[in-house]
Parts: sequence; C-alpha cells; structure tokens
Amino acid sequence: MTTTLAPTNPLTAADRCDRCGAQAYIRVVLGSGGELLFCAHHGKRYADGLRKVAAEIQDETARLRDVPATATNDEA
Ligand SMILES: [Zn+2]
Repeated sequence: MTTTLAPTNPLTAADRCDRCGAQAYIRVVLGSGGELLFCAHHGKRYADGLRKVAAEIQDETARLRDVPATATNDEA
C-alpha cells in the first residue's frame, strides 16, 4: 500500500437515494461516521441541513450533464 490517500469511491448506479430510491449523485459522510445517499433532487432539498452535520459532501451532480438521455430510467 502507498501513503496516497485513496480517492473517494465514485457513486454508481447501485447507489440509491435514501429518500426516493433514484440513482444517487450526492454522498454525505456524517461527522458521526454514517453515510447518506441522495439523488440530485433530494441533495439540493436537504443541502442546507446536511452542511450542518456533514463531515464531507461528495457532489457528483455535475455528471448528470454527461449522462446520455438513454442511460437514465428513473429520472423524471
Ligand atoms: Zn431522491
């Protein structure tokens, strides 16, 4: 093993929003060590509250722009 910090694992299609089950694009690591996943919609909705309790927020919503329209089946 090297001393290089491991990059945060990218979110995948297997990561689902804790609120609605859509594909997650935001991972919230809590200060307590827990982890929450949100879709872009819910990530935005809870952003203010999450910032108060999160140790880290991994926001991959920018990737939504790169996803071909045919690749989504749960975003409406
Ligand atoms: Zn959601």
